[in-house]
Amino acid sequence: MVSRVIPVDTFDLVIFGGTGDLARRKIFPGLYRRFLAGQMPEGSRIIGAARADLTEAAFRATVREAIDEFVPEARKDAAVIDAFIGRIGYVSIDAKGTGGWPDLRAMMRENVVRAFYFSVAPVLFGDIAERLHEHGIADAWSRIVVEKPFGRDLASARALNETLAKHFTEAQIYRIDHYLGKETVQNLMAVRFANILFEPLWKAEYIDHVQITVAETVGVEGRGAYYDKSGAMRDMVQNHLMQLLCLIAMEPPYHFDPDAVRDEKLKVIRALDAVKPEDIVRGQYLAGGGQEGYVAHSENPASKTESYIALKVHISNWRWKGTPFYLRTGKRLRARASEIAITFKEPPHSIFDDAEGWRENVLVIRLQPNEGMNLMMMIKEPGPGGMRLMQVPLDMAFADALGADAEDIPDAYERLIMDVIRGNQTLFMRGDEVEAAWAWADPIIQGWEERGMKPQGYDPGSSGPEDALMLMHKDGRRWREIRE
Ligand code: NAD
Repeated sequence: MVSRVIPVDTFDLVIFGGTGDLARRKIFPGLYRRFLAGQMPEGSRIIGAARADLTEAAFRATVREAIDEFVPEARKDAAVIDAFIGRIGYVSIDAKGTGGWPDLRAMMRENVVRAFYFSVAPVLFGDIAERLHEHGIADAWSRIVVEKPFGRDLASARALNETLAKHFTEAQIYRIDHYLGKETVQNLMAVRFANILFEPLWKAEYIDHVQITVAETVGVEGRGAYYDKSGAMRDMVQNHLMQLLCLIAMEPPYHFDPDAVRDEKLKVIRALDAVKPEDIVRGQYLAGGGQEGYVAHSENPASKTESYIALKVHISNWRWKGTPFYLRTGKRLRARASEIAITFKEPPHSIFDDAEGWRENVLVIRLQPNEGMNLMMMIKEPGPGGMRLMQVPLDMAFADALGADAEDIPDAYERLIMDVIRGNQTLFMRGDEVEAAWAWADPIIQGWEERGMKPQGYDPGSSGPEDALMLMHKDGRRWREIRE
């Protein structure tokens, strides 16, 4: 039921940054799983490209180690791993120089899909695009996959779009946001647009508010230098949370087609109001429980970068006028939990005098852990003694529904890479979408920089800063508990 394999054409996939962290943890293990599922056609190849001067055998050994470390035991099959490793090549290349490019050119074949995954630091995106073109490696059918971050503000995102556009058409550019590859995120579209049940209620008239939470327990240790220049707004809100917001708020597209879907998402971003300073809470985790605080990881004792942010966002359109969207994301929080919660309004009139126990209907879409959906409903509390109400979850945990097949749900990266090979851009961000999201985020960031706003400290393992609780309390609402 789940692991139905949709065939793709034979491909050559070149992974720039093939020795990097993302390639090791996500890309190669993901590709192995697709190979195991039978989705890599005969003759397809994966070519690692990185600066290190490695032989093909040495590179293959690193991929083998990555599979060993990041693929669950149950999915390891020695013969399949050997066959997969046999598909892997390597070229040592300098993105900023000339070394290695003619070798890569010589490796390319005609009449197969060529895809180039830019899993390198963003400063190299432009160089690689340029050299692929210069050395005649990319053809009109080639695709490029661009990792995040896509710019750090509108100006840099626009400049990057312009650089890529010199050598590739928009139809060739796949800007990855791995949140869009998550099973539940796509299911959100299925639930909204393949059922009649929710859509009539999906508007300000019936929805009180929406909460989007992406909570992590890890800090920024190890990548503090990078993170300190970014912060939660740039690292998470402008891209991942924004994409989730779009999928909840967008109008039904006329078809499940890349541009139809992306046109609707773009309209949502353009309809976002400027966020008022009092509707923004920024936080930074403190030291505690024997662990260092944010500033120790950032190496800047006076850092004002936020490791937590909460925002109240309004969408100025007919459907959503008056329904706030509360977004929050942070590090070193109580639990690793990502979810979207849609809280419906009260029924217009209660016929139950004894309405004790009444709670709102909430549709909870869990992204991690335990991907699934939960609809909180009111029912009669069983038993005699009059009418008492109680809230029960209508639970749609995918793991339960799918049984053993749940293991086969592709990870976001493997699904997205296969979409690239298939030439389907629905789950990738279009250039104008990214720019619109920065156009919304820039004034928010500039605003707090101009005001010299410092983030509020919060305890590690907590739900975030006190002011974030107030952001909800002042509206008579409260955040859902952060828990796994
Ligand atoms: P990394 O630092 O671990 O790896 C960088 C790779 O780039 C290495 O393979 C290195 O050899 C190669 N490289 C560096 N300079 C080069 C040059 N001049 N020429 C050719 N190759 C060169 O980085 P990473 O963590 O794998 O991240 C890669 C990209 O993915 C970045 O854009 C990052 O923001 C993004 N990303 C990473 C993660 C993650 O979990 N690691 C998550 C989301 C996005």
